[in-house]
Amino acid sequence: MPNPAGFGELGFKKAVLQLEARLREALPAPFRRLSSHEIGATYRQRRFERGWRIDMLCSDGEARQIDLLVSPAFPLGYPRTALVDGPGQLVWPHVEHDGILCLLPIMAEVDADDPGSVAIHLIGRSARLIEDLLKGEIIERDFREEFLTYWFYARDAKFKITSIVDPGGPSRELRAWRDKDMVIVGESQEQLESWLSRRFGNPRGNKRFHTEPAGLLWLSSPPLPADYPHNGADLLALAKKESDEAYSLLIDLASKAQKDIIVLMGAEGRGGSGLIATMTTSGRKVSSRDGKIQEPLSKGFAPNRMPKEVATLRTYSAAPVVKAEVSRADPRWIHGRGKDARSMRLLQKTVTFVGCGSVGSSVAAKLVRAGVGNCHFVDPEDLDWPNLGRHELGADSIGKNKALELAAKFQRAFPHLAIEGHEVSAQALIDGYRELLESSDLVISATGSWSAEGALNRWHLVNGRKKPFLYGWTESYGAAGHAVLIGADGGCLRCGIGGTGVPHFLGCHWPEGSATIEEPACGNHFTPYGAVELGFVNDLISETALRALLEESTLSHHRIWLAPIQRIKDSGGAITEAMTQLAERENPGGQIWEREWCQSDCPSCSFAREYRSVA
Ligand SMILES: [Zn+2]
Repeated sequence: MPNPAGFGELGFKKAVLQLEARLREALPAPFRRLSSHEIGATYRQRRFERGWRIDMLCSDGEARQIDLLVSPAFPLGYPRTALVDGPGQLVWPHVEHDGILCLLPIMAEVDADDPGSVAIHLIGRSARLIEDLLKGEIIERDFREEFLTYWFYARDAKFKITSIVDPGGPSRELRAWRDKDMVIVGESQEQLESWLSRRFGNPRGNKRFHTEPAGLLWLSSPPLPADYPHNGADLLALAKKESDEAYSLLIDLASKAQKDIIVLMGAEGRGGSGLIATMTTSGRKVSSRDGKIQEPLSKGFAPNRMPKEVATLRTYSAAPVVKAEVSRADPRWIHGRGKDARSMRLLQKTVTFVGCGSVGSSVAAKLVRAGVGNCHFVDPEDLDWPNLGRHELGADSIGKNKALELAAKFQRAFPHLAIEGHEVSAQALIDGYRELLESSDLVISATGSWSAEGALNRWHLVNGRKKPFLYGWTESYGAAGHAVLIGADGGCLRCGIGGTGVPHFLGCHWPEGSATIEEPACGNHFTPYGAVELGFVNDLISETALRALLEESTLSHHRIWLAPIQRIKDSGGAITEAMTQLAERENPGGQIWEREWCQSDCPSCSFAREYRSVA
């Protein structure tokens, strides 16, 4: 039955009628409706509600047929097309095992109000694809460029491998860790241990994480489906064809491994590197295709005494290899899906966050997600209930130190980064953690305490301002936010701030006594604003931090975000003369303009009207 979550039964029937009318009008060749039985028998694993078979004469003189198929949600989603009596799986790219053609990305959006035109367009594209496949030029190219997709079709069961390996050459030995739920492959024992203990905590009783040898074959071009290894011998042949290094890597692995060997294969496809995986099965006591029980790998030899030749023959035998999908969990992939050139630079950076309150914790969260490789959180205070509405931490951290809790939370979540908490004040940091301050590429202070920030500024000045310090604070009611970056040149923090911590430049002012300047002035004053208002300020500070890490500008500067004027007025405040002048002299950026979202007589409006009148 048509899906009521789509356009309902009425919508489905209307769309089908419109589609058939367009087919009659636009197609030169005849077509016919498919019966439910034909649809069910041909496309067993799919849920199609209707289908049409269209004749097509190809340039090679052969008559072929294309099926056009729609799901019960139609006209939501797009119709699919299929090549009738297609060549089978992995013979042509973009043609699935049942002939279904892959023309559009999975998330493609099509116009549900004009299903006829969508169908005609897809039929045209299907015909062009079949012509291209007949000419043959795109076959190898597309199989290679999109090799992850075709490997996915050929993979075995649901066996999946997680990789924290940097996906690039050369071919090399790796290490693998497995438990009953997952397999993780890394560059070394050290990298895996660090990742695993950050993710899951240290193993009980001083044990180490047990890892085993694995390998990466880096291929000069992605494999074609015809080259996909079916058994161990195929895998070894593939390595031999690739290079001497790849071949000797596999031979070495066979002599070292006690059981099945996981071998990743990587290559450059279109849009970047990709990884796929195989696992030999010759060491396992499983029945192979002919039903016989496999012998254990080392049968007949004392542990580690099996000759290399025997190990090679037994490991890379006629026993099938498991073909597995690889989930990448390496930093390059996590921070920008391999496309963000900044992520590798950020991974090398060290940032110290002084003050992990409402501003500091949120800015820290953003920079961790951006992929800053080494983060230190500094705060002497414990989390309290009224902090919760504006903090990254929640109820499970109440009464615990903010810096330590924040570090623990993000370390578990981002095991490829190094994150540490320090339960100390800014003053104690200056006194006892000199190395940390000196090794930081950026220090971000959001303490809300002038005594603390004045002291940091003095340390910075005294030590020659070698690396930038960033100070962030917000004005009352979250009406304005400030990010002041102190570089090697230009003013220091104090240059722009009075002796008691009141900045010379304020965005807003309030009548006497109706507001307090929260930061960087001292004291626990309170003004009511929440995470939403503060979000803009935290973004300003985070973006300033990111720029400081990537652009290495040395001149001190000040960036200000100003809330919408009406909000400032509503809280009883006004814009200062200084802010007005700045806004007039140059556009401060980050302003928000508003416009009305007008109603027009759109197809959805009329559909709804019509639907209501029928129902
Ligand atoms: Zn100064």
